Amino acid sequence: MSTMQHHSAERGSTAPVRQLPMQDSPELKAALEQANLQTLLMVYVHLTHDESMLETFKVHIHPPYTNPDYQIPQDCIDDLREKLLYVLTTPGAARNDDPPLALMQKMMTVSVGEPVENEFIPMVLEQSGFQRTAARKEKAERTPPPPGFKVLVIGAGLTGLLASIELERAGYDHVVIEKNEEVGGTWWKNRYPGVGVDTPSHFYSYSFEISPEWNHYHPHGADMREYFRSVADKYDLRRHIRFETRVLSLEFDEATALWNVTVENVKTGERDVIRANAIFNAFGPADRWSLPNIPGIDSFRGVLTHSAGYDEGIDLKGKKVAVIGTGASSAQIVATIVSEVEEMVVFMRTKHWMINNPEVTKEVPEAVKWALRHIPHYKEWFRFRVFWFAADGLYPNVVKDPDYPEDGIAVSALNEGMRQYALSHMRHKLASRPDLIEKLTPDFPIFSKRIVMDAGWYDALVQSHVTLDDTPIAAILPDGIRMKNGTEYKFDVIICATGFKHGKLVKDLVIKGRGDHDLAVDWADEEERAYMGTTIPGYPNYFMSVGPNAGPNHAGGLNIVSEAQVHYMIECLDHMIANGASTIEPTQDAFARHNRRIDDRMKHMIWTHPKSKSYYQNSKGRPVGPWPFRLVDMWNEMREPVQSDYRLD
Ligand code: NAP
Repeated sequence: MSTMQHHSAERGSTAPVRQLPMQDSPELKAALEQANLQTLLMVYVHLTHDESMLETFKVHIHPPYTNPDYQIPQDCIDDLREKLLYVLTTPGAARNDDPPLALMQKMMTVSVGEPVENEFIPMVLEQSGFQRTAARKEKAERTPPPPGFKVLVIGAGLTGLLASIELERAGYDHVVIEKNEEVGGTWWKNRYPGVGVDTPSHFYSYSFEISPEWNHYHPHGADMREYFRSVADKYDLRRHIRFETRVLSLEFDEATALWNVTVENVKTGERDVIRANAIFNAFGPADRWSLPNIPGIDSFRGVLTHSAGYDEGIDLKGKKVAVIGTGASSAQIVATIVSEVEEMVVFMRTKHWMINNPEVTKEVPEAVKWALRHIPHYKEWFRFRVFWFAADGLYPNVVKDPDYPEDGIAVSALNEGMRQYALSHMRHKLASRPDLIEKLTPDFPIFSKRIVMDAGWYDALVQSHVTLDDTPIAAILPDGIRMKNGTEYKFDVIICATGFKHGKLVKDLVIKGRGDHDLAVDWADEEERAYMGTTIPGYPNYFMSVGPNAGPNHAGGLNIVSEAQVHYMIECLDHMIANGASTIEPTQDAFARHNRRIDDRMKHMIWTHPKSKSYYQNSKGRPVGPWPFRLVDMWNEMREPVQSDYRLD
């Protein structure tokens, strides 16, 4: 328990200011009626440390996927609501101190109906918002960054904004280079109809900035934009950001141990060079896109757009519309525009697994928002449950069971269960259309390619004015699309929901490190590798988010990875500065060892199944995207650098 005790010293900094007792109001009554029961139980125990209630409830709480229809007895529920109402509204009834960690762990275990082991505790305390590491700049024993030391961050999206907040808390002077005119990255740019997130709202945000204001259980694009703007305002981040500026190249100068960063104003084309001691490349993986390479695409005379370049002014009413692609963006677009268009053809190249998640389209009731805003500790305990069920519990689903046939359509009994769950949803939704069931049933394991959430896609496809065409496209014509089988369609609008250039992690950026190191060469032939997905030998003081094999592809969200990586970058810089060095980079040996470990583990993962094929892999078939371990492994391993794995100069 030593880690837990260490962390206990820092707890409480994100705890809400308790405003107890509360007034016994209709709003409070409604919140107690409608809010999540397991979370209310945690609030009660948090405020009273009454373990007997945990004992009462523990036999009644199960993970949602093991016993979804189980009903907690009504008398227990009534008793809890009554007791909680009393504690919240009676002067002196609630305790002022947080539960000891051993009790917190017990509470977590009861809340989710399965053990929350020690190794998870520091991560969930942070990720649920119960604790925040103290601001480094306030730590007396720490060596502060030397005067003039500057970090350059690329991108002001989810990760770049986070980097700016944490660099500020650590006393690092920094500048953020952002090519857009506002913060938010991909969530600022993407304006296609139905744009939204398939990670739950109450988790997909910073652990230290939990918002009670989400309107939906899965955020819409506009909600995400608002969240990032409000975070930028609250932390006064815009003073660090150079908007409408693009980074063209990064070149390390060995003589000065500085990076020369060439940037360009996207409007005027004016260029200049910024010198920085360290780089944090928080570029978004879902950023670079281009129109698909389909013959004749330039000849189309109607409106032709990519999902990521979609202009909200496009009028689809009564129009004949083509949607090319069937990934997450397409699924959201098709479900949203179906009632508006006169006719729609959806073009599918290969199949995707589609999962039913009733929460995807649900609004958060006002009473629940009220609970999140006003009931002490409710939002942290709520986030804990949301995170828990979207995280490492899903890991076994992507691990191959050696007893399962190598070339089957599942990798384990659990994975087969998921497949059946997805199939039954499809069969239910498409009961009247066996032709669609045949066209849409994938022949590869579920989760070996990014799954898509059904937010109305199947319901759209069965409509009489919608066609799903899975034959290859031959060409785009001035007024439509011709298929290889000769079929021709006429369209007013073509929406290419054809995804991003995932294949090349460097994209169009020139990155030149120490000596002859040039990332375009080092990573030539798609041999994209890093150490912990973040640092690379030969590239001193260069850190990247979403690097090779750092993607949370079994569960979770990029937010937790970003928090771990930003923390790690600052730990590395602090370690370097404390040792009086100017540069830090991983050793070649550590890099090779890490990549052997990745490759060894990857053999056991679903992404090396013979039928797995998606942008998770590079063109040679190596899964370059996924982190093949659990999220808790990444989080724990990124607490601090292994010193012997790094070279300091
Ligand atoms: P995507 O997942 O890459 O899907 C692109 C689709 O276009 C695929 O169906 C692909 O077919 C098809 N396609 C690509 N090029 C084509 C061509 N030349 N001709 C015909 N079809 C073509 O892209 P996305 O849906 O925009 O999603 C991009 C990323 O953002 C994914 O990671 C996605 O999960 C994520 N995303 C997340 C959310 C969210 O809710 N968090 C929302 C939207 C997107 P193949 O399958 O055959 O390649």
